[in-house]
Parts: sequence; structure tokens; C-alpha cells
Amino acid sequence: MLAAMPVVIAGYFLMVAGDVWPGLQVAFYVSANGTFALSCLTVAVRNRDLRPIMLCLAAGALLGASGDVMFYVLAVVQDTVEYPSIADVAYLGAYPGIAAGLLLIVRRRTPGWDGASAVDAAIVAIGAGYLVYEFIIAPTMDVTTGNIATLVSVAYPLGDLMTIMVGARLVLGAGPRSPSLALIAGYLAAALYADTAYSVQSLAGTYTASNYLDAIWMVAGYLFAAAVLHPSAAQMVSPSRTGTPDAGTARLAVLAVAAVTAPTSMLIQFARGGEPHIVAAGLSCNALFLLVLLRMAGLVRAQRRAAITDGLTGLHSRRHFEETLRRAMAAAHRRGEPLGLLLLDIDHFKTVNDTYGHGGGDRVLIEVTRRLSRLVRPGDVAARYGGEEFAVLLPGAGPEETMKIAERIRHGVAAEPIAIGADVLCRVTVSVGAAGVPALREVDELVLAADRALYAAKHAGRDRVAAATVSAAASVAVAVA
Ligand code: GH3
Ligand code: MG
Ligand code: MG
Repeated sequence: MLAAMPVVIAGYFLMVAGDVWPGLQVAFYVSANGTFALSCLTVAVRNRDLRPIMLCLAAGALLGASGDVMFYVLAVVQDTVEYPSIADVAYLGAYPGIAAGLLLIVRRRTPGWDGASAVDAAIVAIGAGYLVYEFIIAPTMDVTTGNIATLVSVAYPLGDLMTIMVGARLVLGAGPRSPSLALIAGYLAAALYADTAYSVQSLAGTYTASNYLDAIWMVAGYLFAAAVLHPSAAQMVSPSRTGTPDAGTARLAVLAVAAVTAPTSMLIQFARGGEPHIVAAGLSCNALFLLVLLRMAGLVRAQRRAAITDGLTGLHSRRHFEETLRRAMAAAHRRGEPLGLLLLDIDHFKTVNDTYGHGGGDRVLIEVTRRLSRLVRPGDVAARYGGEEFAVLLPGAGPEETMKIAERIRHGVAAEPIAIGADVLCRVTVSVGAAGVPALREVDELVLAADRALYAAKHAGRDRVAAATVSAAASVAVAVA
């Protein structure tokens, strides 16, 4: 279809140049939006999953196509088309359909909220919004006469702005990149360029009917049709595996350009002796500053979280756990409260790796983490202490409670075999070393005691809990349960 597109467009312009029956010319022009609408309807019939999205898009495309037809019919009947006309109603009606379709795609791709991308889209929309206001909406309001004409003329750039916002949310948001998505991005670029150039040319009085912009509008329609017919269209709605895309160089460059747009354009206008709309510029700049700060705060928070979180299991990292342990121990001494520490090590984990591969081993680590997190009390802190070692801090737990929780964890982790593949199950047990405050006063002593207890549990045959006890001579001994 994309191969046929240049032929159709060339045909259209040949007819514009020659003196052909207008109906044929219209047919060629409408073929773009018509193909777009038909493609959406075809996919809606064939693919139930994509149906709601395709119906919204088809409604938008059909309204666009009927706008084209109405405009040409009016042009033939009336010679000059009055403005605004019924064609404008159809054209404006197309915006919500397309925007709703794109938003539905965004929702399917991003099951979470992906607030960072929403902020990015808002930054782009405000940057673009200022330009649209300054160079299209404000001048339009100055020159158009009549309430309805002004309203319709302002509605177009507002519709484009809505498309920019939704388009930016889609393109910048989390989710798989696919050829279909690239084609939609192409559609957005083409349609928005043609709409904006049309507004600017109309305002400057340089617009002539059937100029090169018709070709760009036609390209836009065909690109969207190709996007929905492409085999990767279904993949476009598969949920993103990451919550938020990485803030890479390209994204930061886009944000930087969007953020400096309003102040830069204001400076250029000022240097040229123009009169920028200070209120609009000031409001845009304030909103941009706040959004950029919000985005920065989000990045800092994410970095901080990443620094204290283990990437595979999502548990706290060892370094963070040791800091938490230090603070908890100081608090326990101050308040005279007990505190328990458990160190867990998965038994024969090398065999798991050897049998099921490293990926299988990782699955086991993730599932053990999930079980462990359910077995601890609220307020307890679990961490990944090493490769397949975990640590659990039990604030307020005395020796008996510490042992009880240790046994509960040991039983709970081993209760059910872990599913590694579709029908591959693996039995996993853990050995646990326990130690506690007040028997031990120093952090290093406590950790060492729990580690020795763990070693003793392994030595005694694994799949058991061992407790560190403090002998009369204050040296740590170990009792295996
Ligand atoms: P034991 O019962 O004595 O604990 O025997 P073991 O086989 O579990 O021995 P050990 O605790 O020394 O084994 C640790 C293994 O864990 C070695 C290493 O290859 C594996 N490992 C460490 N980190 C990871 C990881 O992130 N993913 C996977 N799949 N394996 C890991
Ligand atoms: Mg180990
Ligand atoms: Mg082990």
C-alpha cells in the first residue's frame, strides 16, 4: 500500500494540474482518509482484541474522509466554500476519534501509570502549546471576524494540540517499539506539520488550494492505514515490561528543546521588536519549570531506590540492609528491646543452576523472595545478602520469637516445589542461622554469630535452623534445632 501511495498522490496532482472532472480528483484525495478508515474497520472485524481502538480510529478517519467529500461538493456547488462550513464540523469531529484511539493504545501499553512519561508528554505539549498560541491562536483571534468563525479557527489548533499531547504520550511512553508505532509517529509528524503550515499560510494569506500540503495530508492518511495493517499492529498494544522508559539522551534532547521553546521564542520576538504575549509566555515558563523539577525529583527518587534495591529480586541490597541493621541495633539498645537477625542460604543452589541453567536459578531466587516476603511480619526487613543468601531483620523479636519465625520461613519456603518452566518443578530448601540482641551487642558480632549458626545448620545436614547462643565466657556457640 505504501508503494501505491506515491502513485495515487502523483495522480492527484496531475489531475489538479490538468482540467479533470472534479469528482475523480476528489476520489483520489479521499482515498487517503478512506483507506485509513477501511483499514481500521478491516482490523476491527478481524481482531476482537483491537476492536475498540480500531473503531475509535475508524470513526475519526471516516469523519476526516467525509469532511474531504463535503468540502469538494461544496466547492463544486458553491464555487467558493463559505467558512465555517459543515466540512469543518466533520474535520473537527475527527480529532476526538483519533485521540481516543491513540489513548486506548497508550492504556493497553502502559498498565501502570508511567507518571514520568506523562510529565514528559506535558512538557512537550506545553512547549508546543506556547508556539501554537503565540503564532496561530492569538493571530487568528485578531484577524477572524464573527464568533463562529473564530471559534472554529481556534478549535483546529486546539485539536492539533490535543493530538500532540496524546501523540507525545504514546511515542514517549513505555511499551514495545514496533514498525506500527513508527508509522503512527510518521502520521503524527505529517498531519501536524500540514495542519500547522496550513494555519500559518492561511494567516499570512499565502495559502492556495491544492498546494503541496494536500500531498502531506494524503501521506498522513496512508501512513496510519499502513500502521494498522502492519503485522506488528497487535504488538503495539502488548503491555510494557518496564514501568517507565529510561531517560536516555534522545529523550532528554527532546525535553530540552521543548523546555526552552517558550523562552527562546519570546526572546527572538523581543529581539525583532515584536510583542510577545508575556502572560502566555510567563505561564508556559512557570509550568515548564515546575514540570522539569517534578521530573528531576522523580529521577532522583528512582536513582535512590535503585541504589538500595537488588535488581533481580527487588529486595533491599546488602549495603542498605547493613545500614538499617546498624540503626535498628542502636534503637534496640536505647529502648532495651530485643532484635532478631536471620541469615538464610538456599541449599544446593549450585545444583539448581547446573540442572536448570542460570535462568532457572534466577526464577528460584525470585520465587523464594516472593515467599519470604509473605512470611515475614510487617516491619521486618528482608534483604538479598549475597548470591542466594538472604537476611531478615526482626525488630522487637526475642530469641523464642526469632526461632519461631525462622522455622516458619524454612517451612514456608520449602512448602511447595517451585515452577521453573511450564511443567518443570524444583524442590528447594533453605538453611537458616539465627542470632539476636541483647545476647550480642555489636553489629559485627551479631552478623558473625548468625553466619556461624548458618554454617552449623549446613554442616548438620541443611534444611534446618541453627541458633547462636552466648556462652558464659561470652563466646558464641551454636545450637542446631
Ligand atoms: P549449599 O547448600 O552449601 O549452600 O550449596 P550451594 O550449592 O548452594 O553452595 P553455595 O551457597 O556456595 O552456592 C552459591 C551459588 O549461587 C553459586 C553461584 O553460581 C550461584 N549464584 C549466585 N548468585 C546468583 C544469581 O544471581 N543467579 C543465579 N542463577 N545463581 C547465582
Ligand atoms: Mg551461599
Ligand atoms: Mg547455598
